[in-house]
Amino acid sequence: MAKGGRPDVTIAGAGVFGAWTAWYLHQAGLRVALLDAYGPANSRASSGGESRILRMGYGVREHFTRWSIRSLQLWRELSSLTQQEIFIPCGAAWLHPAGDLFAAQTVEAFKAHGVEYAALDPAALVARFPQFAPGTSHALFEPHAGALLARRAVQVLVRWLVANGVQYEQRHLRPDEPSDGTVVYACGPWLPRLFPDLLGHRIVPTRQEVLFFGVPPGVSAFDAHHMPCWVDVGSQYYGIPDLESRGFKIAHDVRGPVIDPDTEPRTVGPESVETVRAYLAMRFPALASAPLVEARVCQYENTSNGDYLLDRHPEKDNVWFAGGGSGHGFKHGPMAGKYMAGQIMGSMPVDARFSLRTKLDCTGGAATSSL
Ligand SMILES: Cc1cc2nc3c(=O)[nH]c(=O)nc-3n(C[C@H](O)[C@H](O)[C@H](O)COP(=O)(O)OP(=O)(O)OC[C@H]3O[C@@H](n4cnc5c(N)ncnc54)[C@H](O)[C@@H]3O)c2cc1C
Repeated sequence: MAKGGRPDVTIAGAGVFGAWTAWYLHQAGLRVALLDAYGPANSRASSGGESRILRMGYGVREHFTRWSIRSLQLWRELSSLTQQEIFIPCGAAWLHPAGDLFAAQTVEAFKAHGVEYAALDPAALVARFPQFAPGTSHALFEPHAGALLARRAVQVLVRWLVANGVQYEQRHLRPDEPSDGTVVYACGPWLPRLFPDLLGHRIVPTRQEVLFFGVPPGVSAFDAHHMPCWVDVGSQYYGIPDLESRGFKIAHDVRGPVIDPDTEPRTVGPESVETVRAYLAMRFPALASAPLVEARVCQYENTSNGDYLLDRHPEKDNVWFAGGGSGHGFKHGPMAGKYMAGQIMGSMPVDARFSLRTKLDCTGGAATSSL
């Protein structure tokens, strides 16, 4: 158990939401025990991927722009504290059709919150980033966005917590285990299985495939010094430059079939590779025949509207939920943890958008995009 006796708070799930919740509760002086069934940011966890985009652009959902700005500071502070590289400041480009509403709304939010940006027409985009074949796409470029080294970031955070008094144990916590103290189930895509009556229809885990293509020999144009993360608003493809020479990452944001995170096979079929390659050839012609060097299968844990679930169990006062990352939650881990800890300690006002009651039945269709 946590140093100094029985824990005040037990957190099941050492993904990004659970680990940052542990951080804030620990900073507040509480005794915290952190458990994970498979290990922090394990290969089945949603936080277990190599990299995640941190962007400020959220259209009209300005609360997430604010959370991105603040979370980036907190990730940077963690990086300084632990002397580990966590954030790669390569920027992010939104590819969008001329006159796109989401891009216009995002620009308004950027102006309101002082986020630096550049609006690039197709010629300016290709002049700045010749890797792209823009066609008729424009781009909204955020120079201060970038990529988080996701798995490393969570593991670095958990190591720091353990070194500073949080007890970590590899253990599967059952939903009916009795506890005198507070328990947080920060179990991401496992939440609907753990609490089927309450969450089985409110959080839907979907299969998401991620492909990494090898860059041509001797070419550095596709690394994070030379190009940004990118999101293609129309096609719903997105990608991250070649980080640490692991390949150019590309994925489709469209929700896949519903899966079980424990047992889902984590391999990708040739038809998926060919579909992605067709897009790659169109948008990044120099990579048209690039070899696939790695593939991963992860899952989104979708809510009806893409807002997270950070709330108390409706019938058990000492039980809390943190999850519903919906394909975009990683970047906000620090703020989600701060909010969660604030709710538990009663020191922060409730924001209805993170409440259980705003999570509707989404078995017939969750939020269809991470934007
Ligand atoms: C392919 C993909 C791309 C993404 N891209 C982005 C992006 O670019 N930017 C972004 O911000 N976000 C992105 N996301 C979303 C983000 O990764 C998730 O929202 C976030 O990682 C969810 O974290 P979590 O802590 O809620 O869940 P998880 O990381 O899944 O953690 C839950 C943990 O709970 C543990 N657990 C489960 N049951 C139990 C139990 N009973 N007892 C103990 N432990 C248990 C699991 O082992 C797991 O480690 C992406 C997600 C995917 C899958």
